[in-house]
Amino acid sequence: MLKVGLGYDIHRLKRGRRFLLGGVELPFPKGEDGHSDGDVLAHAVSDALLGASGLGDIGELFPPSDSTWKDADSMALLRDVFARVKQSGWKIVNLDCVIICEKPKVLPYRDAIRKSLAEALEVSVDCIFLKGKTAERLGAVGKGKAVEVYVVCLIEK
Ligand code: MG
Repeated sequence: MLKVGLGYDIHRLKRGRRFLLGGVELPFPKGEDGHSDGDVLAHAVSDALLGASGLGDIGELFPPSDSTWKDADSMALLRDVFARVKQSGWKIVNLDCVIICEKPKVLPYRDAIRKSLAEALEVSVDCIFLKGKTAERLGAVGKGKAVEVYVVCLIEK
């Protein structure tokens, strides 16, 4: 059986926060605001996997109203999600991710991010791909006020 999942997330960018993508910190004066560490890619990957496996969503599993998740390491949350997905008998076939932000450039960090996600999800790096796009200066993302991510995943059992 094959199942596909779609994950989406957006976070405001704020000075003094770390810019994290899939557990990798990109050097930039601003980073994702959020209740957790704000790792927008870790959140979208988590939701894609949860959606495909029908196990819920991250807002439900790790509610921002619960202080347990304040400043949470989003890669730890992703590993928790992956453990649930694996426990249900699913294997990851592949993930494809789109990161949309004006700055910083994602390409120089692409392979580091792929490696970080691959380690967390116990798959080889070639099962994970990602690319950076800009929003052509349109809307909040285009004005550099936010970073947005889409992820699709395929899982099988
Ligand atoms: Mg989020």
